[in-house]
Amino acid sequence: MTIARADSQQADQIAHNLKETYQLSVVKDWGEGTEADPQEWSGGEWSLEELHTLQKGVADLANAMGGPDKFIENIGSITISQVEMKHRGLASIHGIKFTASEISIDPWTVVHELAHVWDANFGWGLSKAMESYTGGRTNLVATVLKRLRGECDDAGRLPGCNRFGYFYGDVPPAGSDRNFNRKEDFGESVTAYVYPALVQGRVERFKDDDSYRDLLYYPDYTQTLRWAFVDGLIKGTIVGGG
Ligand SMILES: [Zn+2]
Repeated sequence: MTIARADSQQADQIAHNLKETYQLSVVKDWGEGTEADPQEWSGGEWSLEELHTLQKGVADLANAMGGPDKFIENIGSITISQVEMKHRGLASIHGIKFTASEISIDPWTVVHELAHVWDANFGWGLSKAMESYTGGRTNLVATVLKRLRGECDDAGRLPGCNRFGYFYGDVPPAGSDRNFNRKEDFGESVTAYVYPALVQGRVERFKDDDSYRDLLYYPDYTQTLRWAFVDGLIKGTIVGGG
């Protein structure tokens, strides 16, 4: 993916708006002039479509939070770039790196990564607070014992059967697998809060599944503990972070 010379003004405008409105710096890798040839156009890793997607995800989360000022308060001033890596996205307190590979970003991924930044900005304490709020815990020893007793499923969806010893409480927003932990849970819970209709589609597969229905299916995300937690964080009735 690249930015064509003809689209550069539009790309610059999006980057400018993101900076002005949300204090979000897109690392600009498109432009004129390489050292070897100052006249040559360099398209970089972003596409115009990806910049639009980024803008949409940011605006959707900001709206859910109550506007750009709340967004900046929660997320901080961050940098967003595209780099060569195997992960789709990597978040830290400083910002987000998205993969430069052909996999295009979608709004879900943008909000998910921004949720990690929010958590990081509060010392990864928000995911910890959500773990307690939903009655979960993280305990690797308990995971080893559960496996030894033969109580884990092959897919690693049951509580504590993931690689992280995460015993989730209540119903996760979008299922659970081997890579589930409290940070991913928080990322998915915030994203589900922003896109409740989308996330409903992700748990429908468990509705008629006898093994997982009680653990992983819900009929309405807004009635779950995770929705209430994220809503409380946003409205200030729940204070998380350390
Ligand atoms: Zn994640």
